Amino acid sequence: MRHHLRKAVVPALLGAALLLTACNGVGDAAQDSGENGTIGIAMPTQSSERWINDGENMVAEFESRGFGTDLQYAEDVVEDQVAQIENMITRGADVLVIAAIDGEALGDVLGMAASGDIPVIAYDRLIRGSEHVDYYATFDNFQVGVLQGQYIVDALDLGNEDGPFNIELFGGSPDDNNAYFFNDGAMSVLQPHIDDGTLVVRSGQTSMDQIATQRWSGSLAQDRMDNLLSANYSDEEVHAVLSPYDGISLGVIESLRAVGYGTGEKPLPVITGQDAEAASVKSIIAGEQTQTVFKDTRALATQTVDMVEALLAEEEVPVNDTETYDNGVKVVPSHLLEPVSVDVDNYHDVLVGSGYYEESELE
Ligand code: BGC
Repeated sequence: MRHHLRKAVVPALLGAALLLTACNGVGDAAQDSGENGTIGIAMPTQSSERWINDGENMVAEFESRGFGTDLQYAEDVVEDQVAQIENMITRGADVLVIAAIDGEALGDVLGMAASGDIPVIAYDRLIRGSEHVDYYATFDNFQVGVLQGQYIVDALDLGNEDGPFNIELFGGSPDDNNAYFFNDGAMSVLQPHIDDGTLVVRSGQTSMDQIATQRWSGSLAQDRMDNLLSANYSDEEVHAVLSPYDGISLGVIESLRAVGYGTGEKPLPVITGQDAEAASVKSIIAGEQTQTVFKDTRALATQTVDMVEALLAEEEVPVNDTETYDNGVKVVPSHLLEPVSVDVDNYHDVLVGSGYYEESELE
């Protein structure tokens, strides 16, 4: 039923979208059709390994279940992502799976999907401000932050040590809903220690509008850390850095090394991360980055494919949270997977043991 309705509406939209494709050159399709339908998969960027894995895992899983896929990356350019989604619609996608670059920027194109009766699954990042988001597949994003904050508390042994210890805080991209969940989770653990003076943020920068990092950029984080160090740490040392993402962590480490951290008398601070990207796991093995949060993109891909299959079969879609993710218009029914904290002690078990990495990829 869904299909008949969609096919009647979509041709009217074809011309406009084809024109857009021609103008911005983002229309190169990686499309394969399948007997069970075609799934449009819009991913944000290939500059981070995790999204490459997400895309590859989903394509493999969808194709093994008889679906075709139309996978596109928009290299963090919002307009390109919008155009790619329009093209997926005009090329006949039956479902859209979208990891948004800017969670607030997709309202119009999702309206177009809705007129074609094409369901939308928000992948990893919540799409905000639109009623046309059917489901959300993600990890427990608050818990990601809790794991980062708790790691710092344990590593500095704040149960026994009074400090004071100096900490600086980094946030994720302000247009990504996840960034606020990560920060809220981390601060739920860190704030009491800031309040009682055990942790000191010498820069005084604690709110998301002070600490956010546009598009999760490692080089912007490096620049900000340079500034924090020169303004606040000429005669003090940083003992911990809350970083929400591996790319940011590596930028911060560059900055710290440039002013002499990473030696016996001036060790690098405790520094968290997220995604267990190979470069960061290697950094953890080398004793630089301290921790990361592993989110198994294989499990998220499988979960998403399960949700799409159920949706198209008009069966009950598997969700486990119907309260947390209010996108400003509605609460989006969600399925949350569990993140896992990883450091030098358990990376081998968790990452190599589960087959996520070959030993040789971490050398
Ligand atoms: C994802 C994280 C990722 C970040 C930067 C977030 O939305 O949940 O896993 O580190 O984006 O790509």
